[in-house]
Amino acid sequence: MLIELDGSQGEGGGQILRTALTLSMCTGQALRIKNIRANRKNPGLMRQHLTAVQAAAAISGAHVDGAQVGSADLAFAPGEIQGGDYRFSIGTAGSCTLVLQTILPALLVADKDSRVTLSGGTHNPLSPPFHFLQRAFVPLLEKMGAKVELQLNRFGFYPAGGGEISMTVTAGKPLQPLHLKNRGERINAYAESFFAGLPAHIAERELAMVKKRLAWADDRLLLRGIDRQQGPGNAVLITLEYEHVTEVFTGFGEKGVSAEAVANAAVKRAQRYMTSEATAGHFLTDQLLLPMALAGGGSFVATDWSPHAATNAEIIQQFLPIDVQTAAAESGNVVVRLTAKRSIPSF
Ligand code: ATP
Repeated sequence: MLIELDGSQGEGGGQILRTALTLSMCTGQALRIKNIRANRKNPGLMRQHLTAVQAAAAISGAHVDGAQVGSADLAFAPGEIQGGDYRFSIGTAGSCTLVLQTILPALLVADKDSRVTLSGGTHNPLSPPFHFLQRAFVPLLEKMGAKVELQLNRFGFYPAGGGEISMTVTAGKPLQPLHLKNRGERINAYAESFFAGLPAHIAERELAMVKKRLAWADDRLLLRGIDRQQGPGNAVLITLEYEHVTEVFTGFGEKGVSAEAVANAAVKRAQRYMTSEATAGHFLTDQLLLPMALAGGGSFVATDWSPHAATNAEIIQQFLPIDVQTAAAESGNVVVRLTAKRSIPSF
């Protein structure tokens, strides 16, 4: 069966394409998508999206039309998913993590284990940083039955890029439903400032701001100086570990943005989560929908329901007989529930 999608629907960004690629590979349904990233300033496939298409094609032996930079129209017909050793390069600071997320669910159900190495950006604004994937996203997939190991070989900050991530995926581990009712007790919380090729006082000022805003003791504030060749770049990460879930909130260093503002961006996001009763924060919410849909069900409590989440839910429902329901919780959060309308094969 052919699934036809309009990439301008809802959020109209790259996630529509990536989610569609994953679902096409996992369900074996061919895909045609027009108006790719129509709501973005630079529409069509950029390097990161093109690499996601190429990686998906390589692991599923797909027949592809329209895989060029700038293309707004793509046809993708997958074959069998093949595990193995793969290496992909984005060639710019485009996000490695978004490409890895595209192929990861498919590799879980491949014929053999895989090792994928990807070069590009590892800590990019508007994308999950490596540590978010490693500490927040992948552990939830593991709760759902997956076995995945991630390794950061080199940092790659935007706009310099040059980073590298390796991922090992054990085959034959289809995802199982997960119900994340509450996050449990907080067992650890710390802030890190990663910096490469920049003066240490930037990172010190960032951590001073975290300390001021969150009143955390010094042993929770970690300076992470990285070899200057992996820079220039900077990111502040706040990691909150609970019994049942870990969340990571990030502020990305940018030229012209003060160290204090970078730290504040991370603090604001972390505070929103800490003062809520949610199990998933703003970004984790849109990213959890796809694995839960492939698992045939799941539920969690979100801080909020974003346009990204709503659009992702729509795309998922065009491929799978899954109901995605949201309901306001008394706490002001949103209860998200995915239910299979009929039994679906295990992906
Ligand atoms: P474009 O829309 O320009 O194509 P894109 O390809 O990066 O950009 P989006 O559709 O915007 O795609 O999706 C970005 C993804 O990155 C979303 O899943 C979002 O949850 C995630 N994300 C963005 N910022 C963060 C962050 N700080 N931490 C974790 N995840 C993030």
